[in-house]
Amino acid sequence: MHSKEIGFNTICTHLGEIKDEQFKGAVSPIYLSTSYAFEDVDAKRYPRYFNTPNQEALCKKIAALEKGEASLIFGSGMAAISTTLFAFLKKGDHIVLQRQIYGGTANLINEEFEKHGIEFSYVDSSSIEDFQNKIQNNTKVIYIETPSNPLLSITDIKAVAALAKKQHIITMIDNTFASPVNQNPITLGIDIVLHSATKYLGGHSDILAGAVVSSEKHIDQIFQVAKNFGGSLSDFTVWMLERSIKTLGIRVKRQNKNAMKLAKWLDKHSDVAAVYYPGLKSHPDHNIAKEQMSGYGGMLSFELKKDLDAGKFQKELQLIKSSMSLAGVESTILSPTLTSHALLSEQEREEQGIRNGLLRFSVGIEEKEDLIQDIQQAIDKIKITALEHEL
Ligand code: PLP
Repeated sequence: MHSKEIGFNTICTHLGEIKDEQFKGAVSPIYLSTSYAFEDVDAKRYPRYFNTPNQEALCKKIAALEKGEASLIFGSGMAAISTTLFAFLKKGDHIVLQRQIYGGTANLINEEFEKHGIEFSYVDSSSIEDFQNKIQNNTKVIYIETPSNPLLSITDIKAVAALAKKQHIITMIDNTFASPVNQNPITLGIDIVLHSATKYLGGHSDILAGAVVSSEKHIDQIFQVAKNFGGSLSDFTVWMLERSIKTLGIRVKRQNKNAMKLAKWLDKHSDVAAVYYPGLKSHPDHNIAKEQMSGYGGMLSFELKKDLDAGKFQKELQLIKSSMSLAGVESTILSPTLTSHALLSEQEREEQGIRNGLLRFSVGIEEKEDLIQDIQQAIDKIKITALEHEL
């Protein structure tokens, strides 16, 4: 079965699956062996070579979902990101990165690259001129993340890809927030797509994994480094991830729908100061999002009015859980000020548009009425407590 002939949900459910010839079971058997017979010098099978039967099966599925030629799966999103960056950058090279990227990726760059003699420049906006201005003679990679965390700003993927192509620069994108359901950057000209599969691909808050999708040629270049760094995923988790992806399409489409409804409701709420969701017409990057995304995703952020305490609000929620991670089927919420951006000063956060009352909301698959009710009761409770304090 070729991915070009079948639709998204059929890829999710079937593509790459291992046929159980012996017992005719409905799902891929799991091969946990770490030891395989030697058959050929070029076909040595070993989990750290990313080529066990389950790894190969899942890589076919993930590559097809992102419309790439090949993929590799890793033990974490950061293993995929670090291995891929080091596969394309060496001493004396330079990388241009969007400022608003996942904190772990920024830490990797800030803490490790100087030691390896790799130069880097951050772009403070998503303007293409600003990307162009940071390019140097030794720039080898441009790295973006869109929608970004936590303000859901959008970078014009096609424009970045075109800018880089003209100058023979490799482009990489962290597509975690959008997921392959809503955005396929390879079709927009991007060379390499990265995922924290811990998020939407896994979708149940019980798998730590990463993935990279690209051309056969680039994946081979990444593999040459990956086998040395050794960040492959255990076959049991590979199998769990294959199972999780079967419902990726229906999960994320439901999350898109819920997030849109919640964003609109919050936007009209008198106790909410701001809502950040690319699906809202009022979002400054809505038109670019409309152009490059087929759905606006399950992530949104909002700010309560200044007199309402976001920390207390979170504690009053009954259904929506406080969580450091995101993209599970259950709705979760996080304060960037207290978690992902806690190491920045208040002024630095303000400069990035992250105010103390900001909350990042990963919308799940629950009934939207129950989510609305939960938020409303939490707001009501903190307002009553505030009033009691005043009296
Ligand atoms: N990229 C994004 C956008 C993320 O949110 C995360 C984790 O939160 C990562 C990458 C890193 O992935 P992992 O935690 O699976 O290593």
